[in-house]
Formats: sequence, C-alpha cells, structure tokens
Amino acid sequence: MIRAILVSSVVLVLIACGGNGDSDRDVAGASDERAADRVVVYTSRQPHLIEPLFDRFTAETGIAVQFTSDNEASLIERLAAEGARTSADVFITVDAGNLWFAAERGLLAELDSPELESAIPASLRDEQGRWFGLSLRARTLMFHPDRVDAGELSTYEDLADPRWAGRLCLRTSRKVYNQSLVAIMIEAHGVERTEEIVRGWVSNLATNPFASDTQMIQAIAAGQCDVGIANTYYLGRLLADDPDYPVDLFWANQGQGGVHVNVSGAGLTRHAPRPDAGRALIEWLASDAAQGEFAERNLEFPANPAVPARGLVQDWGDFESDPTPLTVAGERQAEAVRLMDRVGYR
Ligand code: FE
Repeated sequence: MIRAILVSSVVLVLIACGGNGDSDRDVAGASDERAADRVVVYTSRQPHLIEPLFDRFTAETGIAVQFTSDNEASLIERLAAEGARTSADVFITVDAGNLWFAAERGLLAELDSPELESAIPASLRDEQGRWFGLSLRARTLMFHPDRVDAGELSTYEDLADPRWAGRLCLRTSRKVYNQSLVAIMIEAHGVERTEEIVRGWVSNLATNPFASDTQMIQAIAAGQCDVGIANTYYLGRLLADDPDYPVDLFWANQGQGGVHVNVSGAGLTRHAPRPDAGRALIEWLASDAAQGEFAERNLEFPANPAVPARGLVQDWGDFESDPTPLTVAGERQAEAVRLMDRVGYR
C-alpha cells in the first residue's frame, strides 16, 4: 500500500514536471514507512545541486535519501493536501518568503535543535525552529564596467535617482526574490518612502522587467541597460562559463544597512513519519562538513559563518549583509506585492 502511494507520487511528479529536468529519485530500498534508515525530502532545488550532498549524507550515516523535486508552490500544495498522510520528512526550498509561507500554512514542525541554533545565525532561521537557512545568497547591484564607474554606485535606494533614467533593468516583481527585497525595504524605511523608491526604479527602467535574473544580467552585458539588481550566483554561473563576462557586481548599501541577503533552507515537515532522520539530515546539512559544498554547488555562501566560502565567489570579497531577520520577508510579503502593484512594477 505504502509502496503504491510512493510509486503513484513519482508518476504524478514526472508528469507535472514535463521535460524541465526535475525528477523523483528512489535511492532507498524502501522498507517500513517509518523506518529510520531513510528520509524523504521534498525539494525545489535542482537535483544536481543537492543530490551529491544526499549521497554523502547516506555514506556517512547509513540513512538513504529519497527525494521529489518540483517547484516550491506545487510542493507546498502537495504537503498541504497530503496532511498527516505525507511521506515527506524534510522540505527544502529557496527564499525565506517561501519558507515563511510553508510555516504559516502549518506545514512545518518546530524543531528544537541546539546544533542548528549554534550553526545558523538567528537572522537566517525561524524563531520557532520551523525553518533554517542552509545557504546564503546576496541580491546586489550589477553593472557594465564600460558604462558605469563603480564610484557612481552606492545603494538600492539610489537607483531611484533620475540620473539612472533609461539605464536600469529589473527582474519581474512576480518573483519572490524582489518581493523579499521590497519587504525588507519596507521594514527599514516604511511604506511611504519605499513606495517613492520603487516608483523611482520603475520610472528609470530601460525596458520591461525580465522573467529571470540571468536575462536581466544578459541585458546589461548586451548594452540594453547599465545597471540592475540580481542574485550573485546568476552572475557566478555566467562567469564560470566566461571569466571575461562583461558584468561586475557591486556590494550595495555597505555602511548603510548592508546588502540584502536571503537563504535557501530546510524545515522538518509537521507530519514527518521519520522526524529523527529528518532532523539528522537538516543538522548534517548545516554542519561544517556539508556547508562548504552545499554553498559552492550553487555559487552561494555558507549560512554557517564558521565555514569559509569556496570557489569563484571568494573573488567578490567580504561584504556587510543586512541583519534584518528574514522572517520579515514573509511577514511583509503581501504589503510588498501591493506596493509594487501600486507603482506599476510588473
Ligand atoms: Fe535563483
């Protein structure tokens, strides 16, 4: 019976994902549903970023990892629909806004873990232990070095200045990344001031907002605009392919609140059939042993500050990050969406 449920869920996900590369992997020799020798993960991370870590976890602990990949919205709906019958122990996704939403929907358990509390800074995890950041991503300014002098750049807020008219590119406001950025700005400045800033961005746009950070960076490279805002790992991927890629990053708001950071992270599901195995996996992913590789595979930064960044992201140097608790990104998300709508940021 249990086997049948798992098999049917595999089929459903494969159909839902079409050809986009997501898939289910049954690594476990599934035995009893509650056996602690395996852990079931729902994840919106791309399999190639996370599967090698799961393999290491299995090698070190003997706990097999069975995972389902899909987009975060589908996984959240699936967890909600499955309720107490879910086979998922751990939910892994990106952006504190998504993690917050899953917690608000009552889908995540409160995990009381001294290991996680000491490994992950308080601003990068839920106060009630429902989710924990596992890697840190910075959303900062990107520019074309031939058309912008780094000395002209300072803050997100400054991109509202009329001197950037017709020179700014942005990703769509529909993506949670910009919703989280604006939510944190509302926390810092209030609605009125933030609305002025975002209105200024919209009036400075060189072209319609882009569907992805990558397209936005490519528009800067192509000369369609001079400056924009993106997560650093997207630039990292372009630089990994072409070390001379003609876009640079600038650490925003240094000495003025810090650069906007967000996380990918994980939580134990409320109805985890194997809570001990789920906890063991999350604690392992936050540990010194796993953090370097977890971040490096997506060109991110370790969430655990004791672990140094690896690879090409080291070239970007240290930066001051905004210490605002990331729960704010969730709490103010609806306000941020309404604000962006009001000023015509599509
Ligand atoms: Fe991303």
